[in-house]
Amino acid sequence: MSVSAAGSSGALCCGHRGCTAAVSSSASASAEQWGTWPNVVTAIRTIATMVAWAVAVTIGSDVWLLAALLCYWVGDIADGLLARVTHRETRTGAVLDVLADRLSVCLVVVSYVSTHPSAALPAAVFLGQFVVLDAYLTLAFIRWSLLSPNYFGLVDATVYRLNWSPPAKATNTGAVVLLWLVTGSTLAATLLATVVLGVKSYSALRIARLPIPQALSGCAVLDATNLAGAST
Ligand SMILES: [Zn+2]
Repeated sequence: MSVSAAGSSGALCCGHRGCTAAVSSSASASAEQWGTWPNVVTAIRTIATMVAWAVAVTIGSDVWLLAALLCYWVGDIADGLLARVTHRETRTGAVLDVLADRLSVCLVVVSYVSTHPSAALPAAVFLGQFVVLDAYLTLAFIRWSLLSPNYFGLVDATVYRLNWSPPAKATNTGAVVLLWLVTGSTLAATLLATVVLGVKSYSALRIARLPIPQALSGCAVLDATNLAGAST
């Protein structure tokens, strides 16, 4: 025996890493905890970013603004890695991570543009992409029984590859900022930001065409059978 149902209300263990059913055993997905170590790291990296940003705007320092950006980047990699390695991924944590990212990036980019107006155009395209489109895409996982967008491949492999595979993450979040810092070219940064915006727009259209599950089964793959109109 052993395998099969894990206790209460029809809980299943589907075996897919990233499905909410996969974390069943003790504290199930229906009773998520806020106080996980990855969430603590998210809180610390966000506070560190805000402190560095506050110093930057107080003394007018680009170096501190860069420090704020690094706190966000390094911390964002660290909290996600910790969650995956320790198997403490939660949907709450994934949502908090998305919100903390937008706060951090907005503070840094808006402050930077206020003293470097030539960055306004690429910054506007980048912020529109990151704060609106990318936030929408990153939160879309909530409609399926997924722990985070890192497992969106169970729902749509193309959208996953374009947005949350390791190379996509690296280029989507950092490429425009890095290109700007290295070249200082408004044109180059704006063009790259527009390309990323195009990838996000295509992804949003793809997601909009996906059938939405009527009920969450605990398994993102099974969710596909609980579609609107499909009677059970
Ligand atoms: Zn599953």
